[in-house]
Amino acid sequence: MRIHHLNCGTMRPIGGRLISGGRPARLVAHCLLIETDHGLVLVDSGFGRGALADPAVAVGGMFVRTARPAFDPAELAVSQVRALGYDADDVRHILVTHLDPDHAGGLPDFPGAEVHVHAAEHRAAQVRRGLADRNRYRPSLWTHEPRWALHDVDGDDWFGFASVRPLDGSWPEIRLVRLAGHTAGHVGVAVPTDAGQWLLHAGDAYFHRVTIDGTARVPLGIRIEETSTQTDRAARLTTVDRLRAAHRAGVDVFCAHDPVEYERHAGPRG
Ligand SMILES: [Zn+2]
Repeated sequence: MRIHHLNCGTMRPIGGRLISGGRPARLVAHCLLIETDHGLVLVDSGFGRGALADPAVAVGGMFVRTARPAFDPAELAVSQVRALGYDADDVRHILVTHLDPDHAGGLPDFPGAEVHVHAAEHRAAQVRRGLADRNRYRPSLWTHEPRWALHDVDGDDWFGFASVRPLDGSWPEIRLVRLAGHTAGHVGVAVPTDAGQWLLHAGDAYFHRVTIDGTARVPLGIRIEETSTQTDRAARLTTVDRLRAAHRAGVDVFCAHDPVEYERHAGPRG
């Protein structure tokens, strides 16, 4: 099993100086592409081709104005899958941490894949109750009617979190891990490495590496972003406490948007 770390969407958000101490901030959309004996598994999908064609529809005007994505065609997950010598159809499963457009944007580029998501997240994205959910959930990302696999993540205990195994037993023991607080059904994706360690893609459970390693205070711009996009503050803070404990227990925890965490795994600008 080979694990590739991909950046499927560079962003340069407004207020970036509040994030990186005076320098313009750069955020990434950290995704995983996992080569297995049965085919490819994608963890999150970044932005998709639809965002290049019509960002206001695929991503939403507010997101475009505040996060300022680069929309680089070479960063699309489908472009990077092809650069590795595969076709889009070789991606058999996509596991999404949640359905915000910087995570689910690539779904239409892989119409043959089964899309695994928390059932509560799927429900919230279909109902789109309230202005915030109408802004964040973009219906154009599922008009191709993907094969949804909806999971209630309330099963096994994994480092203090509820988790389920979404793929059948012949696939690697990848897990959806309930990381509550950011959206209605936000999850992380835990991947066992050949070296016997767990990787945990924590999605948007947090946005900056110091949240986990505790080496400094989380920058103001990041705290504003975390608060303005959360659905349940108390649950989010509990999630962060447990992620720190998982990190101390040896889990390799990283979030979707921290460029330093990304480069630590992918190599500089890899
Ligand atoms: Zn995000």
